Amino acid sequence: MSEVSGQARYGVIGHPIEHSLSPLIHTLFAQQTDEALTYDAIDVPPAALGDTLDGAEAKGLRGLNVTVPHKQNVLRHCKHLTERARMAGAANTLSLSDGRWHGDTTDGPGLNADLQALDIDVRDQSVLLIGAGGSAYSVLADLLGAGPDRVIVANRTLGAAQTLCRHFAKLGDVVACSLDRIPRRRFALVINATSATLQRARPAIPPGCVRDAHCYDLMYAKDGTIFTDWSFDNGARSVHTGIGMLVEQAALSFEIWRGVAPVTMSVRAHLRDALGFTV
Ligand code: NDP
Repeated sequence: MSEVSGQARYGVIGHPIEHSLSPLIHTLFAQQTDEALTYDAIDVPPAALGDTLDGAEAKGLRGLNVTVPHKQNVLRHCKHLTERARMAGAANTLSLSDGRWHGDTTDGPGLNADLQALDIDVRDQSVLLIGAGGSAYSVLADLLGAGPDRVIVANRTLGAAQTLCRHFAKLGDVVACSLDRIPRRRFALVINATSATLQRARPAIPPGCVRDAHCYDLMYAKDGTIFTDWSFDNGARSVHTGIGMLVEQAALSFEIWRGVAPVTMSVRAHLRDALGFTV
């Protein structure tokens, strides 16, 4: 497919991808900002990643969002990476320029923007980040940039948390522990960055960790997740899923591509009123 009547073409690649909300979100941004573009969900199995990226320009594509399972694998197809993407070891936003891909990640700033929208301030506070996989790598630099007193990274496999903490040590006070050795202290914010929710499970952390804390599951869901429900039952101050982060990271991708920052509040309202998300 080539450019249709002056409309630039964008999309999100992943596998599976059919349930992605990104086409809806970017279409709403385009309408709001009067930008002439199309945005599609593109199913790309792992074996087809290289061919898809190599053939994108001929199809009129200018930029791509990237989701599971390609976020790490796209790096080797990029001519240039931002420092943020290099630190994260992943990219969720690719831009085509002079026939070369440029990689960035907006997950970390997207989470920070959502925390700001939710009025959650971690400055000088303790944060508990559960998980040490791809999304933990994507958000930790920006989380440390928000100025917490300390971030404790708890993971089922201690070694993975220790590797993550070493990687980001120069950016702030970040300490690793296993799920059953989380220090007893009051956390202002507890983030579930594990994929346990996908397995209909929750990370086995002591209930005291979430008491009076803002609790945030990176995975989004209409009616909360096992983690947010459990946190609510155990005295959380507030509970949230990653739907706001999804909107905010999309807005930052849109701005990278089009040079115009969409207003996210109206899109958040649309997801709430038309689709029933708590955002
Ligand atoms: P990864 O597969 O890279 O990492 C998985 C992590 O979860 C590991 O730390 C793993 O621990 C841990 N884990 C898995 N199962 C369990 C369990 N049963 N109990 C405890 N820990 C467990 O996943 P990602 O980091 O890429 O994704 C995590 C979540 O973040 C997903 O739900 C994804 O949807 C969400 N996400 C949301 C975004 C948004 O915009 N809202 C953006 C990006 C991600 P171990 O090391 O021991 O295996």
